[in-house]
Amino acid sequence: MKRLEELAIKVMKLYLELENIQSGLPSCNGCRECCGTPSINIEATILEFLPLAIHLLRKGSIEKWLNILETIDESDRCVLFDPRSEHGGCSYHSFRPLVCRLFSGSYILRKGKPEVWACRYLKPQLGGLLENLPECQEIHSKLLSIDFFLAQERYPINIAFKKALEYTCVSLFPELRYKGA
Ligand code: SF4
Ligand code: SF4
Repeated sequence: MKRLEELAIKVMKLYLELENIQSGLPSCNGCRECCGTPSINIEATILEFLPLAIHLLRKGSIEKWLNILETIDESDRCVLFDPRSEHGGCSYHSFRPLVCRLFSGSYILRKGKPEVWACRYLKPQLGGLLENLPECQEIHSKLLSIDFFLAQERYPINIAFKKALEYTCVSLFPELRYKGA
């Protein structure tokens, strides 16, 4: 457990670092359009979900989420999306993965040229603020340096969440590996 907790703390520190870089940027309007995208179009890694997996473990609700994840297919949206919420829509906004954070203001290098990476609402507002944006690859490199194995492979967001829950369970209770967990 200690190793997983240490990894999760490092990931949360990276999220905090990103929040500091992004503070002061035009903020997300909470329209929820990005969270409503079919989950297969949003990719994340296991490591990005490790802090949430540990939080859910402590709350005793990993099994509930694994059961929900058993019932979905790739055309479904992210299981963490809650359309009943008043603003935004993420059930665990403070634990949301890196991909969701970068989509509200970052840039990628395309043929050496910086290009804003954000939703269609924020992109026009961020064009003149490139020097204030985090670079996606640099942030991903920091994630890889925390744990290469858990950050290497990207999966559709629901699969990444499921794998993080399973990884957490199997790491703590290795006997589950033999029961198909
Ligand atoms: S990031 Fe963009 S699409 Fe997503 S909720 Fe915010 S404004 Fe809407
Ligand atoms: S994790 Fe949260 S912010 Fe990201 S797509 Fe799912 S509901 Fe939206």
